[in-house]
Amino acid sequence: MILVLLGPPGVGKGTQASRISLHYGIPHISTGAMFRDAVARGTEFGRRIQRYRIDKGEYVPDDVVIEAVRQRIHEPDCATGFLLDGFPRTIPQAETLNRFLAEEKLRLNAVLNLAAPIDDIVKRFSGRRVCPVDNATYHIEYNPPLQPGLCDECGAQLEQRPDDDPVIVKRRLDVYNEKTAPLVDYYETSGLLRTVDASREPETVFGQIVALLEGWQWHI
Ligand code: AMP
Repeated sequence: MILVLLGPPGVGKGTQASRISLHYGIPHISTGAMFRDAVARGTEFGRRIQRYRIDKGEYVPDDVVIEAVRQRIHEPDCATGFLLDGFPRTIPQAETLNRFLAEEKLRLNAVLNLAAPIDDIVKRFSGRRVCPVDNATYHIEYNPPLQPGLCDECGAQLEQRPDDDPVIVKRRLDVYNEKTAPLVDYYETSGLLRTVDASREPETVFGQIVALLEGWQWHI
């Protein structure tokens, strides 16, 4: 199964992606997490990414993102499918993904568009915490870790992302509206888009996603 998760920053893509990945046994590919990880490890690729100011919410150029995704989806764990979170983010990225899949004789099964009112999204940013080791995402109110401040999976101290700062959040939402929101129409036209009400509890949102993927609501 090959899936794309679409939706504004802070809507809960990371949380749902982890659950989908576990449930269907497909790798969760988050371009944002790949970039943050490379920056944190100080690799040559990470130093290159740092120049694009992802900490300020600016997009990495299409050719750089595309090359990173191309390499990742050729890894053996992607042979039975994968879930893309944060890619594609622009129309050229979506067109390139179509080309990659066609070349490999693969098919995109669905694009899940997570949607929520802007006020909910802004509220979610302030409580979001991430694990710097395994990228697990939590929210202090809506999706708290079992022990406050610590990752359930590895026990590492959770952190707030630097780009969750309110000024940068505003910039990220503006960039999303300008460059990524057009993908909703793009995938709507291709008939692959399914919109999910992401304003509900994570468990309820996940239930909607599974129901959609199992085909129960495809005709609604
Ligand atoms: P995310 O974790 O998906 O919110 O991504 C964090 C940041 O990484 C974004 O704000 C962008 O700066 C950068 N980024 C992630 N994915 C992409 C992409 N597909 N195209 C351009 N920039 C990206």
